[in-house]
Amino acid sequence: MSTLLEVSGISVTFDGFRAINNLSFQIGSAEMRAIIGPNGAGKTTFMDIVTGKTRPDEGRVIWGEKSVNLLKMSESQIARAGVGRKFQRPTVFEDQTVLENLIMALKNRRRPFSVLGYRRSAEDVGRVEVLAEEIGLKAELPRKAGELAHGQKQWLEIGMLLAQEPRLLLVDEPAAGMSPMEREQTTAILVEAAKTRAVVVVEHDMEFVRRLNCKVTVLHEGSVLAEGSLDHVTANQEVIDVYLGR
Ligand code: ADP
Repeated sequence: MSTLLEVSGISVTFDGFRAINNLSFQIGSAEMRAIIGPNGAGKTTFMDIVTGKTRPDEGRVIWGEKSVNLLKMSESQIARAGVGRKFQRPTVFEDQTVLENLIMALKNRRRPFSVLGYRRSAEDVGRVEVLAEEIGLKAELPRKAGELAHGQKQWLEIGMLLAQEPRLLLVDEPAAGMSPMEREQTTAILVEAAKTRAVVVVEHDMEFVRRLNCKVTVLHEGSVLAEGSLDHVTANQEVIDVYLGR
């Protein structure tokens, strides 16, 4: 598998505090990766760096076959290069239907920054129907997004991100606040998405991470503490100590 993202020797200091400390690791082009670590480990700051929201003091973030330096690009250029990010709280257009939300996301991909007045082509509707199937919301297409259950809103937002065809999807705690059944479907959606792109999931819930069945990177004090299967990293004494606060 080829490398899609290579983070190399990045450090970030906030008011003298080193939130990211010489962090290096790689993500493959069609890989699911879970990033875990205690509060303050640097998980959010890592995502902020990859999306261009936070600029590191040093290091490199190398992207794609052409090895471009993401640090030289603006947030919107990074998004257009194929980095999508899902925050914890779903941000869907509540007054619009599921269909309209997905169409808008599709249009945004084609014409970034376009005004959202549009006509729907049969092709767009066809594509949206396939997407809706993938996220388990086909039956909900005519419903207002505001009427959806919490889990369904999260899936809709994942669908909106997928409509934009990212090559890397960063997902922050997708299972938070979900029922066991919703978690199961979320796992299925993310696993399917990771077949054709990289998906990086930041998650606290170890049971959810186990279901993802993927390589895990443990961050601690802004560096990689351990990496490997969940069983491998959770057997690591340093990881155990960090989680128990020793
Ligand atoms: P995590 O997501 O793993 O909980 P964060 O990346 O949010 O960790 O934070 C890493 C550390 O950097 C924390 O100690 C946090 O308080 C600090 N930090 C994050 N952002 C800022 C900021 N904008 N200003 C000052 N400190 C920050």
